[in-house]
Amino acid sequence: MSKHSSRGKKWDELKAIQLANYDYQCATCGATENLQLDHIIPASLGGEDTLENTQILCAYHNNKKNNRIEPEEKSYWSPRWFPDGPVKRPGS
Ligand SMILES: [Zn+2]
Repeated sequence: MSKHSSRGKKWDELKAIQLANYDYQCATCGATENLQLDHIIPASLGGEDTLENTQILCAYHNNKKNNRIEPEEKSYWSPRWFPDGPVKRPGS
């Protein structure tokens, strides 16, 4: 598998938007360092580079996830479940 170190301008813009949406925290553990933009449905399975199909993960969880599709609850504060605005973490 290949993780692209640079996917171009569109990917960078998506990441910037999603970092704000996710409050600069990993969607799984809340880490604030080494954040990466991740496909919810992997590109290898037809996932697209869209807000609906991307989430912010730390490097650890991005690597751990690989090409598996996470259970929905792992991504449940993805913007696709919160289409109306900023994402709130549970309990916050
Ligand atoms: Zn994490």
